[in-house]
Amino acid sequence: MPDATRLVVIGAGPGGYTAAFHAADLGMRVTLVDESPRLGGVCLQRGCIPSKALLHAAGVIGDARRAARWGVAFGAPAIDLDRLRGWKDEVVSALTGGLGRLAQQRAVTFLQGRAAFADRHKVMVEPAGGGEPLGVPFDYAIVATGSRPVRPATLALDDPRVMDSTGALEIARASGSLLVVGGGYIGLELGAVYAALGCTVTVVEMTAGLLPGVDADLVRVVARQMDRELDGVRLRTKVAVLRPRPDGIEALLEGPDGQSEARLFDQVLVAVGRSPNSRIAGLERTAVELDGRGFIVVDAHRRTAEPSIFAIGDVAGEPMLAHKAFHEARAAVETIAGRPAAFEPLAVPAVVFTDPEVAWCGLTETRAAGEGRAVKVSRFPWGASGRALTLDRPEGITKLVVDPDSEQLLGVGMAGAGAGELIAEGVLAVEMGATVSDLRLSIHPHPTLSETVAEAADLFFGECTHLYRPKRS
Ligand code: FAD
Ligand code: NAD
Repeated sequence: MPDATRLVVIGAGPGGYTAAFHAADLGMRVTLVDESPRLGGVCLQRGCIPSKALLHAAGVIGDARRAARWGVAFGAPAIDLDRLRGWKDEVVSALTGGLGRLAQQRAVTFLQGRAAFADRHKVMVEPAGGGEPLGVPFDYAIVATGSRPVRPATLALDDPRVMDSTGALEIARASGSLLVVGGGYIGLELGAVYAALGCTVTVVEMTAGLLPGVDADLVRVVARQMDRELDGVRLRTKVAVLRPRPDGIEALLEGPDGQSEARLFDQVLVAVGRSPNSRIAGLERTAVELDGRGFIVVDAHRRTAEPSIFAIGDVAGEPMLAHKAFHEARAAVETIAGRPAAFEPLAVPAVVFTDPEVAWCGLTETRAAGEGRAVKVSRFPWGASGRALTLDRPEGITKLVVDPDSEQLLGVGMAGAGAGELIAEGVLAVEMGATVSDLRLSIHPHPTLSETVAEAADLFFGECTHLYRPKRS
């Protein structure tokens, strides 16, 4: 029997641990390396999971406030930050501990330390506690080193009052004023958490809208809610510089007409994007190439220009999302195992877990317009959904982006409570090449928000039971 393939995976985040586990399941001899003692990477330790635990708490606070409208009042929330932080940490520990056990069950060798390339078939692992680097030869390596927050020099203060997402997840203080620099995923999600916990939050975004690139009708739904919950949202405004003052952090805001204003905040969250961890020592001893933004260049199999080295997850390009990393991991490992595989999805879902949530997959209206591609859009307002009204959440919308000739579904967008769960139907439909008729002929349970997908499909034909909008000839 031939020796098992030796695979080294660098980085134990969603991409790395998925690759390691799948390769072990396929019979490879796997070494997984991470600087952190725990598996899970950014997503589990300082990203998806802790932020969603805090957002759940924020959502409960919002629900309790809304309930007063229907005669069920709970009063003002009493927030114990230590317990909230402790609960969030418990969730993280449960999941990272579980991954550790799964690695052991699969006989994946885990090395804690920093990996560097000695050459195209060997990595050196510098143990976390110091000591001699350990050489690990490999047939194949998968680089899954993820990304880190961007911190432009003008916004980088060594001051505990200025946080990135990692610091913000520790919620050291949830009172006073918070400036959020950047109205993207992190700015909106964590801004919403701090607002729910009691801070007065101002979001400053330098482009013309929140969540740049996302369809404007979807963004409007969440922007309305943000306007209600936040102290202010400033668009077309750049935070040019942060300066420490004894009584706060002074931010210089540069507005659309060139005017600037200095404002003082108790705390600042800088959330202006993430950049790939691709400056791995010794990478220059291989043929691996980086693009202009520092992402490792890969083909559809996630193979780099060096045939023995693959790259997946945030370090291998946008979108920087955990589920993209999961699927790239499988494509890379399957390729190494000699199976036919490629990462060529039609629909990578994206979800912003604000309340309401924003979710989309496949072709967006914005991208179709940018590409000059003709599409038909059917938009169902949740005000006509029985379920949305029973939840007191009529503000949402579900939209379908459709090929006008074939009536095939190309993309789905949603904004509303629970949109992140609902979008999975859109992903399946787009991937399966479903037509709008397939969606309307599939029976959706009543009363559920999932019916908004079928109603949007009915509306496409001008034959929607719960909304009178006949098709124009
Ligand atoms: P990572 O998770 O970044 O892991 C990389 C690992 O590599 C790290 O553990 C690091 O220690 C290790 N490493 C790096 N260099 C070396 C080296 N030289 N040697 C050894 N180890 C090394 N995505 C979603 O899909 N949904 C969400 O809800 C979501 N929420 C997020 C919230 C926040 C606040 C943040 C910051 C991100 C969020 N993301 C979310 C993005 C998600 O976390 C990333 O897309 C995902 O973690 C990428 O996985 P990865 O495997 O590529 O790398
Ligand atoms: P982002 O790219 O989503 O948003 C950054 C925003 O900051 C942009 O809108 C940009 O225009 C703005 N900006 C940049 N410089 C500015 C300045 N000086 N003043 C004002 N505005 C400025 O980046 P992020 O929010 O840091 O998130 C990083 C990535 O992490 C995301 O792109 C996503 O891939 C991932 N993430 C995903 C989720 C999720 O899936 N729910 C949650 C959090 C993070």
